[in-house]
Amino acid sequence: MSDSKMIPARLAQLRLAMQRHGIDAWIVPSADPHLSEYLPEHWQGRQWLSGFTGSAGTLVVTADWAGLWTDSRYWKQAETELEGSGIAVMRMPAGVALPHVEWLADNLRSRQTVGIDGAVLSLFAARLMTQRLTGLGILLNTNTDLLLEVWHDRPPLPTAPVYEHAAPYAGLSRRDKLAALRDAMRADGADWHLLSTLDDIAYLFNLRGSDVNFNPFFIAHALIGPRRSTLFVAEGKVPTSLREALAADGVDLAPYGQAAQALAALQPEAVLLADPRRITLALWQAKHDGVRVVEAANPTILAKAKKSESDVAHIRAAMAEDGAALCEFFAWLEHALADPAQRVTELTVEERITAARARRHGFVCPSFDTIAGFNANGAMPHYRATKAVHATIAGQGLLLIDSGGQYYGGTTDITRVVPVGEPTAEQRRDFTLVLKGLIALSSARFPRGIRAAMLDAIARTPLWVEGLDYGHGTGHGVGYFLGVHEGPQSISYYAAAEPQTAMESGMITSVEPSLYREGKWGIRIENLVVNRPAETTAFGEFLHFETLTLCPIDTRCVDAALLRPDEIGWLNGYHAIVRERLLPLVDGAAREWLLVRTEPI
Ligand code: ZN
Ligand code: ZN
Repeated sequence: MSDSKMIPARLAQLRLAMQRHGIDAWIVPSADPHLSEYLPEHWQGRQWLSGFTGSAGTLVVTADWAGLWTDSRYWKQAETELEGSGIAVMRMPAGVALPHVEWLADNLRSRQTVGIDGAVLSLFAARLMTQRLTGLGILLNTNTDLLLEVWHDRPPLPTAPVYEHAAPYAGLSRRDKLAALRDAMRADGADWHLLSTLDDIAYLFNLRGSDVNFNPFFIAHALIGPRRSTLFVAEGKVPTSLREALAADGVDLAPYGQAAQALAALQPEAVLLADPRRITLALWQAKHDGVRVVEAANPTILAKAKKSESDVAHIRAAMAEDGAALCEFFAWLEHALADPAQRVTELTVEERITAARARRHGFVCPSFDTIAGFNANGAMPHYRATKAVHATIAGQGLLLIDSGGQYYGGTTDITRVVPVGEPTAEQRRDFTLVLKGLIALSSARFPRGIRAAMLDAIARTPLWVEGLDYGHGTGHGVGYFLGVHEGPQSISYYAAAEPQTAMESGMITSVEPSLYREGKWGIRIENLVVNRPAETTAFGEFLHFETLTLCPIDTRCVDAALLRPDEIGWLNGYHAIVRERLLPLVDGAAREWLLVRTEPI
C-alpha cells in the first residue's frame, strides 16, 4: 500500500477501535512513559498513525475529523507530510499549553468521551485536561491504549546495554548521590521517591545507555526507598558485573514492567515524593490510595544542574576536543568553498562535522540533529536540511551551523556563523549586534540566586535599542554527558521566572542571542557558560560566567566600528584563550585555520 493510502487505512482501523471502546475523540501525544524529548520508536505512535515525522505534535482523531497540533517550527513540514492524509494541520499558538484540549472543549458535547493513554500522559497534564473537560460534562478515558489494537508491527522496546558512567568522569559516586537524595527526601518528609525521567535516573545511578537518539539514556523507572532502591530496567540490558556493583550500592534490579506493581505494594503509611510534571498518570494511579504523596520537583534536577569542580574540569577537556574537531571541520569547509570543483551542501556540512567529532577522544554521538542553514534557511531557527530539500552553499551569504556532541566528559552545543564570499555591510552589522549581546551576557555579573529569566534582557539590549529581537530563549541548561536541554534554569523571557530557576554556582547554560531576517539570513552565536562565584560583598554573593566553548567567532563578519574598546578586548581575549587551548590539539590545515581565525582585531 502506498504511503498516501496507508495513513487513511490506519486511521480507519483506529476509528473502529474507538467505536469498540465507546471513545469519541482519541489523542495521541508525542510522549512516552518517561515524558522524554526523544522517543524510542516503540512510542512513536503519533508518527506511525499520522505520517508526520516532526519531534513535537499531538494528533486528535474523532469519528469524522482528524487534526495535528504542532508549533511554528513544524508548520511547513506538517503541511507537506500530512497532504492527502485527511489530517488537518492545526497551528499551535505560542503560550497556549494544551490547544487541542481547548478544541475538544469547543467541539465535543456533554457525555461524549475523550480517550488518551494514561501511561504516556503526565499527571500534571492529566489534571489540566480533567479540569477543562469534566466541567463541561465530557468524560475522560485514560485506561486504554488503542495503539495495542491497531499497531501490529509496533517496534519492540530498545535493548541497548546499560553501562557505567564511571570514575574519573563521575565525580560523585552513586552512593553519595543516593545519600544526598535521601537527605532531600527526608527534608520533604518522604521515605519513598518515584523517578521516571531518564536524565534523572542516568544521573543518579551514574549509568548511561543508548536507547534513544542523541541522549545517552536508557529506558527505566526507579523507586528509591529508605534503605535500598529498585531500578526497573529490561532484563538482559545490565551485565552481571554491573548488576553486582549496583547491588553492593543498595540498588536492586527488577523487570521494566514491574514499576506499577512495586508502587502498588507500598504500605499505606508510606510517604512518597513525586513530581507531577515528571511521572505519568498511570504510575500515579498504581499506588494504594492510603499512600501519602508529597508533590515537589525531583531533587535530582537541581543536583545534576550544579556541576562539581571535577565535572567542570572534564567538561573543559571535552570542550577542547570539540573545538579541535571544529577547527578541522572549518578548515576543510573554507578550503572546499574556495574550490570550484567541490560542491558543498548543507548535508555535506552535517556529515563532515560529525566525522570530525567522531575522530576526537571520548566522543560518543551527536547531541542533537545538526542545523546547517545557508542564507534564508538559516533564518528558520529549527531548520533541518533533508535529502529531499537542502541548499548548495555557493555564491554569497551567511552559513549558520548549530551542532553538538556527547562526550564521556561532557555535552557540547555550539552555533557559529561563517561568511560565504564577502559579507555585506548589513550582514556585518547584524552579526555585530548579536555578538554585542553575546559579549554583554557572557561578561555579566549578577547576584547568586537571581532567576535565570531576568538575565535575558542583557543579551537582547543591543538588539532592542535597534528595534530588533528574536523569537526564542537566549539560553537553556545543558547536562554533563546527559541531555543537551536540561533544567531548571532557562535564560528566556518566555519562561516563567519560577523559584527553581535561580542561578547557582556550577550550572551550565547556553548563551545564544540571534537575529533572523526572514527569507534572507539568520545569525546565532552560541557558547556554553558555567556559573562561577565572582565575589562576596556587603550586598551578597555574586556570580559570573566562565565561557566553556572553545571555537573562533568569525571576525570577517564583524564591523569593528560598532564595538566599544571593552567589547573588542573581550573578543580578542576570548580568541587568545581559544588559540592557547586548542593549539596543542590540532595540526596541519586545522592549525593554520586556528591561527588565522584567532588573530586579534
Ligand atoms: Zn545549539
Ligand atoms: Zn543551544
